[in-house]
Amino acid sequence: MTKMPVIFVGHGSPMNAIEDNEYSRTWRSLANMIPRPELIISISAHWFTKGTKLMNEEQPRTIYDMYGFPKELYEIVYDSPGSPKMAKVAKDLISKETEYDNSWGIDHGTWSILVHMYPERDIPVFQISVDAYAPPEVHYNMGKELKALREMGVLIFGTGNIVHNLRLVDWHKGNKGFDWAYEFDDYIYENILNNNHENIIKYNEIGDVAKLAVPTPDHFYPLLYTLGASDEKDKVSVFNKSCELGSLTMTGYLWE
Ligand code: ZN
Repeated sequence: MTKMPVIFVGHGSPMNAIEDNEYSRTWRSLANMIPRPELIISISAHWFTKGTKLMNEEQPRTIYDMYGFPKELYEIVYDSPGSPKMAKVAKDLISKETEYDNSWGIDHGTWSILVHMYPERDIPVFQISVDAYAPPEVHYNMGKELKALREMGVLIFGTGNIVHNLRLVDWHKGNKGFDWAYEFDDYIYENILNNNHENIIKYNEIGDVAKLAVPTPDHFYPLLYTLGASDEKDKVSVFNKSCELGSLTMTGYLWE
């Protein structure tokens, strides 16, 4: 079986789910560039929990974890099957304590991208939550432990935003970012390209720029799973490297 790539996507606004724009067009073309996965495991910024949870339903439901958007968004149903069998395989690979939890569903961090990448909704998908209390290296290590699944046709998919500061969103900025947003995004970019994962795990040590870019780690930690699941020998591509509204970067990575 071909070894699957690993993808991190900067998801940005839920409106990207229904808009035809540069981001959604890139996501669509990504799906055409890579082998078709047997299964997708999504680590979404929006399932931010105490402890690590995995969903293991036959048919996960779609959830609408955002407020005040047009009706059209709440009508999207991403009804791919789940995979209790592969959820068990993933659970067994993770050394950290984890539990099954089906109180969540496929959230907009996942479906706003997958509606573009795999609109047929026929590839099984489930999510693993992001433990709010685990330090960065623990998230990275879970990615490492899941890496073996790439050989089994599994697409490990992280969805968040590398720079994500909603409090400092500035509508006047349009598709431009603050200097510190570009600085942090470039710091991550250079360290990804040079395989300096340690610098990314210790992002907090770079000080004020990191505090502005990552005021809370929910949107950042999904990147660590994909980094962990990547391999030194992978070719890395960057896509959608840009900043919106001052303080949101859309940058994504593909390791293959
Ligand atoms: Zn989000």
